Amino acid sequence: MQETLTSIVAEIFAEDDWGQTAQYIPELASIDPKQFAISVCTADGRQFNAGSTDKRFSIQSISKVFALVAALGRVGDQLWTRVSREPSGTSFDSVVLLEQEKGHPRNPFVNAGAIVTTDALLSGREPKLALAEVLGLIRQMSDCDDIYINDVVAASEQKTGSRNKALAYYLQSHGNLHNAPDLTLGTYFHQCAIEMTTAQLAMAGRSLAGLASAPRVISLQHARRVNALMMTCGHYDGSGDFAFRVGLPGKSGVGGGILIVAPKVASIGIWSPGLNHYGNSHAGTRAATMLSKATNWSVF
Ligand code: GLN
Repeated sequence: MQETLTSIVAEIFAEDDWGQTAQYIPELASIDPKQFAISVCTADGRQFNAGSTDKRFSIQSISKVFALVAALGRVGDQLWTRVSREPSGTSFDSVVLLEQEKGHPRNPFVNAGAIVTTDALLSGREPKLALAEVLGLIRQMSDCDDIYINDVVAASEQKTGSRNKALAYYLQSHGNLHNAPDLTLGTYFHQCAIEMTTAQLAMAGRSLAGLASAPRVISLQHARRVNALMMTCGHYDGSGDFAFRVGLPGKSGVGGGILIVAPKVASIGIWSPGLNHYGNSHAGTRAATMLSKATNWSVF
């Protein structure tokens, strides 16, 4: 495994195209795209690392996985009365389907669905308590307390996040936002601004992969369902392509991270901040493709 990861790093650095960092969040736009890290936790309890696996990056939409796990724990199946479970075929911040489908988001991983999920986590308490639950869950899942929110990144997105504000107000107009838009959005932006290393991310994915070394924080049924959604919706309108290339449930973020789950076999964290045109990590997707090919871990 170590040899495989080392050769993936070499192959990634041999290519010139690194994609482009997320331009709409100023704090992320200025990051050097030419960076890469990959970490793998295997079923025997070992971890393998290659590249900048100690470097913290903004997990952004990967946080939607942890918020979903927390929301399922808090409100259970009630969440599905507010969010569907279908791939959208649209970009992560699209408003088109939300209008057609009367404020009922397609899935919990597009922004509109994630805003509803965070709204469900927020009801009846202060934003800082909802955030403490998500952060606490991530720390528990990764066996590591050294994970924090980057307030500068959250503020940066808050300033420029007009699309997400539009989505929140649109949800509100259909009665599908139960808290003040500013409060839900503030919570959502801070949740997205959590920073992790790939080493921590791979550790956090063990519960979803059902590895024996993982803390028991999520039921088998919830893990299966979250994995199914990651497979079908985790890369937005690039989900089909990711399933085609990699064949494993994965969730991307515009910080360039990808969390990948090989059920019962491994949990994988990858990071490279340059994005492809879907807003998913360019080099990260290439690396996931190489790893899947080298290991035969595809679920298909
Ligand atoms: N915070 C980002 C946003 O809402 C997350 C998007 C993403 O990572 N795809 O736009």
